[in-house]
Amino acid sequence: MDKKLLFIYNAKSGKAKIRNKLVDIIDVFIKAGYRVESYQTQCPMDASAKIAKDGVDFDMIVCSGGDGTLNEVVSGTMKLENKPIIGYIPSGSTNDFGKTLGLYKDMVKSAKVAVNGRPVSVDVGEFNGNKNFVYIAAFGVFTDVSYQTPQNMKNILGHQAYIIEGIKSLPSIKAYRMKVEYENGRFEDEFIYGMISNSESAGGFKGISGKNVILDDGLYEGTFIRKPRSPIELTSIINSIISGNIKSDAIYNFKTSKIKITSKEPVSWTIDGEFGGEHTEVNILNHMNAIQIMAHLHKK
Ligand SMILES: [Mg+2]
Repeated sequence: MDKKLLFIYNAKSGKAKIRNKLVDIIDVFIKAGYRVESYQTQCPMDASAKIAKDGVDFDMIVCSGGDGTLNEVVSGTMKLENKPIIGYIPSGSTNDFGKTLGLYKDMVKSAKVAVNGRPVSVDVGEFNGNKNFVYIAAFGVFTDVSYQTPQNMKNILGHQAYIIEGIKSLPSIKAYRMKVEYENGRFEDEFIYGMISNSESAGGFKGISGKNVILDDGLYEGTFIRKPRSPIELTSIINSIISGNIKSDAIYNFKTSKIKITSKEPVSWTIDGEFGGEHTEVNILNHMNAIQIMAHLHKK
């Protein structure tokens, strides 16, 4: 019997790059022996709804779009008992997780990985019991700029632009007093940025979450940046972010499978690069090995 593949794509992502590639991408799937159903997303959360409704009929779900589209596909897949393997063809402007999976900017090459690559287990995050994330939940300086930048501006400027905006705004950025409780400790301070991530690259930065990121170890990397107390500390923070070598007392790094973050003031969060609501309490859990995604990873 033919293997069945559902191909879900966001036609608007990444300057609508997929328009010229659709024929070649579908041809890759057919050559790999799949019967293909294509579905163009119509609105936000459509991908998730489509999978929750029809996903069970497929052996594989391949999605194309930005990390937000991948988030929707994973969230939809999490609702299924028998989870199809997921393939990903990044087309967004940042695509942090695509980099972690060793995927290509060339969409046809990534389509080949989706059907001929190697499935890897990936942990999935649960955010306040009602949302999932694939690789990052974050708040603060860079995230604000990221989701406040409209999609068309992101397409034009690329992620470098909002990173530069973020760095420019560091000295004046709002800090939030927060209590952070994780498996092996707790701390309280004023933070300008924080992320819980399972990715080598976040916000376009590589290395900020620490080294030896493992996608299926049941652990997240926690990275919190304290409000700089002096110009020297500000410089050390910026250097750490740009170089990926954390050499600043103002940056907290740790690993944990669960975390609770509380604040008096509501804090805006982003989940896989999309707006995730304002919260005074955030509880995050790691669902170990919850899904399988096709990757092109060099053996470490
Ligand atoms: Mg991990």
